[in-house]
Amino acid sequence: MPRVLIAHDLTKTYPTADGPLEVLRGVSLQVAARESVALTGESGSGKSTLLHLLGCLDAPDSGSITLEGRALQDLDEAGRAAVRRQSIGVVFQQLNLIPSLTVAQNLGFQARLAGREDADWQARIATRLGLDSMLSRYPEQLSGGQQQRVAIGRAIANRPAVVLADEPTGNLDEATADTVLDLMLDLVRDSGAAFLMVTHSPRLADRMDRRLHLKQGRIV
Ligand code: ADP
Ligand code: MG
Repeated sequence: MPRVLIAHDLTKTYPTADGPLEVLRGVSLQVAARESVALTGESGSGKSTLLHLLGCLDAPDSGSITLEGRALQDLDEAGRAAVRRQSIGVVFQQLNLIPSLTVAQNLGFQARLAGREDADWQARIATRLGLDSMLSRYPEQLSGGQQQRVAIGRAIANRPAVVLADEPTGNLDEATADTVLDLMLDLVRDSGAAFLMVTHSPRLADRMDRRLHLKQGRIV
């Protein structure tokens, strides 16, 4: 299977008042198309930092990231923004839905920015996520779980090469979290994306193809 996302020897250190904090000390990983990988690790172990690097939201101090054969670490901010729009879908705990846009508009927002609107695919996503009856509502008129499903749909609407999720079910009860993970696994497989999800839950991690554990700045 072709490797969609390849990270090699990533390092990241934050300057803090107490001196430099080495968060990532040489992280390497690969995720293939249609593969689902769980990323676990204690709080503060650098999971979100790693996801930000892989999602082109921040640059590593050293090391390389290749997405669909393209090296990301040398891109400038404009180049990173273009890759984010075209190739990466993210679901964070803060959903960042746009309050002034309807559910349908939120779903299509990133795909439109990327010039990749696909009405059939978006309709399929909405149906799978159970959002058909809510398309003209605004985010504030939805429950937390419903808003989460909109954020998932938005992340996948432009058929990104990779979907990155940072504890997307962290605020949900177990049963809802299971349902949301089912939906995500189903949609990412259908879209052909590589899927990397940070989770605290061994139960959810067990349902993914593979698990990577981050400890003391390295994958163990
Ligand atoms: P996790 O997601 O595994 O809980 P994070 O990647 O959020 O871990 O954070 C890893 C460590 O880096 C933590 O100690 C955190 O406080 C620190 N950290 C994260 N972001 C910054 C930042 N922008 N500046 C300084 N320290 C940070
Ligand atoms: Mg985190």
